[in-house]
Amino acid sequence: MTVATEMLQFIDLAAQQRALADPIRDAIAAVLAHGRYIHGPEVTELEVDLAQFSGAAHAVACANGTDALVLAAMGLGLEPGQAVVCPSFTFCATAEAVALLGGVPVFADVDATTFNVSPDSVEAAITTAREAGLEVAGMIAVDLFGLPADYMALREIADREGLWLIADAAQSFGGARDGERAGSFGDITTTSFFPAKPLGCYGDGGAVFTDDSEKDEKLRSLRVHGSGTHKYDNVHIGTNSRLDTIQAAILRVKLEAFPGELEARQRVAVHYADGLSGTVDVPRLPEGARSAWAQYTVVLPEGADRDGVQASLKADGVPSAVYYARPLHLQTAYGRFPATDLPVSEMLASRVLSLPMHPYLDRESQDRVILALRAALSG
Ligand SMILES: *Cc1c(COP(=O)(O)O)cnc(C)c1O
Repeated sequence: MTVATEMLQFIDLAAQQRALADPIRDAIAAVLAHGRYIHGPEVTELEVDLAQFSGAAHAVACANGTDALVLAAMGLGLEPGQAVVCPSFTFCATAEAVALLGGVPVFADVDATTFNVSPDSVEAAITTAREAGLEVAGMIAVDLFGLPADYMALREIADREGLWLIADAAQSFGGARDGERAGSFGDITTTSFFPAKPLGCYGDGGAVFTDDSEKDEKLRSLRVHGSGTHKYDNVHIGTNSRLDTIQAAILRVKLEAFPGELEARQRVAVHYADGLSGTVDVPRLPEGARSAWAQYTVVLPEGADRDGVQASLKADGVPSAVYYARPLHLQTAYGRFPATDLPVSEMLASRVLSLPMHPYLDRESQDRVILALRAALSG
């Protein structure tokens, strides 16, 4: 038995705050000085920074990642009764945005290695939806745990079937495929700046990305009640979904540190993979892919007692989490929507485990996690 073990942080926001405290304080002070709390200059500056970082032509800041999905679906013209294919193994907001607008989420399965929606299953879900008499309007792919989905295959299906494609990059902002960062993979790409996301603010925040200037204009209108040329001229039914100026100011500082943080997360992932492969299934990225490592999620061996593993980790001072213990098609609120067979979603829900992951996790702590998980599974 080791000496009293201090609990590690699952995501250490305090360490990041210590590292960036001065510039963040200055950025907030600047907002307090000019007093433009809504749509102040920092919001526009952040949008320029975000577009430049992601490679998308346009970035539109909004209130949170759920609103970003709602705005995207509104922007693409989702109508009540239309079906939208999305994965079942995801955070609920993906399907919630569709249902909030009166659309019908249709659940597809995910790939066991990447955790992302399987293109074959998307095709099956489109067929399922059409057989149920639904008109399929689009699909939402999710870049789960930080890895951008297989957009090459998804784009091909979307074009062939005449569907729009939203990329839910709430977990993958900063991730890339084939040298292209998340931001342009969907007709509209969405992200979240919830504090625990790879790029997080100090409250709620989100953004929507597009390469199309007409969509950009519509999204900008939708986030302020569908306004037209004048504030009190309404050309769309919109909503109120603005990003606070203070959050934008904080994000501008954090965005500067973000590339270095992504590198640090990547180093943690490599060390975990070295120490844990053979013990559990560790995440493997497809050729040419970069994950933003929102989560480091392993798959425990079949039959392992996950609750017992979590308890053993906890006793060793290692926090862990289960994303997600129940796929959406098995949730009370979403069970009524159409779905294909979802064996992988159900398998993963019972076997995944996410480990501490953040850019400030030192090597010694990483080794503690590795040793604790190995011990938990050998017991
Ligand atoms: C966090 C998250 C969202 C929602 O973001 P909020 O800012 O919390 O509204 C949507 N989709 C996925 C995949 C997420 O992880």
